[in-house]
Amino acid sequence: MFKLLNTLFDSISINIKIVIHFILITIFSMGLTYLITYDSLEDEIQKTYFKKLTAIREIKKTQIEEYIKSIKNDIFLLARAPFVIKATKELSNNFLNKDFTSKVRKYDKEFLKYVNKKEYYDIFLIDIKTNNIIYTVAKESDFKTNIEQGKYKNTNLAKIYKSIKNSKDNNDIDIIDFQHYNPSGGQPASFIATKVKNKNNEVSAIIVIQIPINKINNIMTGNQNWENEGFGKTGEAYLISQDCSMRNDSRFFIEDKMNYFKQISDIGVKKEIIEEIKKNKTTVLFQEVKGAICNNILNVKSGIDIIKDYRGIEVLSSFAPLNIQGLNWIILSEIDKKEAFIYVNQIQDKIFFTLIAIFIIIILTSIIFSKTITKPISVLILAVKNLGNGDLTKRVNIKCNDELGELATCFNNSLDKLEKMTYSVEHFTRLSMTDNLTQIHNRLKLNHELDIEIRRAKRTKSNLTLVMFDIDHFKNINDTYGHDVGDLSLIGLVNIINQNIRKTDVFARWGGEEFMILLVDTNLDSAILMVEKIRIKIEKNNFKKITNMTCSFGITQCKKEDTKEALIKRVDEILYEAKHKGRNRIESQ
Ligand code: GH3
Ligand code: MG
Ligand code: MG
Repeated sequence: MFKLLNTLFDSISINIKIVIHFILITIFSMGLTYLITYDSLEDEIQKTYFKKLTAIREIKKTQIEEYIKSIKNDIFLLARAPFVIKATKELSNNFLNKDFTSKVRKYDKEFLKYVNKKEYYDIFLIDIKTNNIIYTVAKESDFKTNIEQGKYKNTNLAKIYKSIKNSKDNNDIDIIDFQHYNPSGGQPASFIATKVKNKNNEVSAIIVIQIPINKINNIMTGNQNWENEGFGKTGEAYLISQDCSMRNDSRFFIEDKMNYFKQISDIGVKKEIIEEIKKNKTTVLFQEVKGAICNNILNVKSGIDIIKDYRGIEVLSSFAPLNIQGLNWIILSEIDKKEAFIYVNQIQDKIFFTLIAIFIIIILTSIIFSKTITKPISVLILAVKNLGNGDLTKRVNIKCNDELGELATCFNNSLDKLEKMTYSVEHFTRLSMTDNLTQIHNRLKLNHELDIEIRRAKRTKSNLTLVMFDIDHFKNINDTYGHDVGDLSLIGLVNIINQNIRKTDVFARWGGEEFMILLVDTNLDSAILMVEKIRIKIEKNNFKKITNMTCSFGITQCKKEDTKEALIKRVDEILYEAKHKGRNRIESQ
């Protein structure tokens, strides 16, 4: 696998290699940054929210505890208030009398004043001798009934009455948790009760205050101002009791009933319960809270946790037991995890998009960076290719001052030197192969060409014909017109030959006034025809000063057994024969 990757990596260009490296480094470092920030952000936000929730929880806890305490204080004073003692005496004495109602009305004013001031639901006076409810403010169906034998003997009002009645402590103040209270149409009711004593300090009645649920709701919801209280859009504080049902109205029930019912129905709350909540217009006693906290509710200690609340939504929760004697209430202060983490998500989004932007910038930079390296390299590669093709004129044009610039300068300098050297080599090579007077090939070059062409002719079985010619009586020309004129005549003769042979033919001065023409791909007959034409042209040519001049020619075709030396020797002998036979003629073999 590693080997395969290595081979793959080797076969890609530097450009891509650099970009891949940058991408890998960027992805790695950014991933790490993202993870670290994600974790620490989440931790910090979580801690902050839990602190906040706990702070609000403590405030609410104190408020509820203080409120219950204040009711206890109220009932303590109320039980000792002269109008209460008086009412107890008069109403218990006249319970069966006709004028009972008018006597009740007499006390309504003061009780009403008190109830309105304190916003209590109701105040009860229950005669301890007869167990009759001798006074209520609300005058519901419980009024005038017997609490121990009447139809409300199973209510929590009856329970607290008995509890206080049986209490040995005459100053005892007791509280009883909410229960559905039939006389109030099944609405949840909770009571605080104590004994009323007459002037002789004998217990004459039990006085009961019905705790207003509104007051508890207002404390818990901050008068439905959750946002002002720091609960954001999804937070709330609520109370639960040992039966694990709520003791105040759910924020979600108050704010958006439709959604609330949908949520609780989605998590499987029974239709009947939802109907009860709708009918009674309260979640108190109806909305159950499940989860770990309910497993051992009497031993719950204050703490924090991330849990699913009664709507099945994940929340950050801070909880603590309330310190109210007689009630096993727990206060919970919560906010949806989603909302708590909304800033985390927003910041994470910002970080994410910033990282993406940085990623793109780095990739673009890496492409530009790799180009700055590979562009000069490409230019150098092209220059080296040109050099390989023999072009020494192209120079590298790299203007940077880095190592690649230095390399380009070195390359250019080397090329300068190489060009000079090549020129010298070419110049001297040419000189060494050229006849100085006529500027045609010399004997050395012809020898070299002969070697090559004889080998080629044998290999390809092609024709090769060698012509050797010599100026007739050239000595006379020199003698008559001088050496300079002789030189000019030689040049004139060479011009004629050059104009009448092919580019592929090799024409060389063999020595003095002797020349050779190597005719490639030419057989003897074609050579004779061609040479005859040349011979006539020379014969007819008007050379400067000397007017006419002739040459004798020997022609022979290369045979397969021929060596170079044998071929030269034979052509030389044929030429000699032409001379011998009278000059200005061709002999061939
Ligand atoms: P033949 O017809 O038998 O060839 O007679 P020829 O006079 O041409 O032959 P010979 O070998 O006697 O003389 C050749 C002359 O060519 C001698 C030499 O001075 C002259 N010669 C050789 N090279 C040059 C040269 O470069 N310039 C001039 N002007 N003359 C040259
Ligand atoms: Mg001669
Ligand atoms: Mg000669």
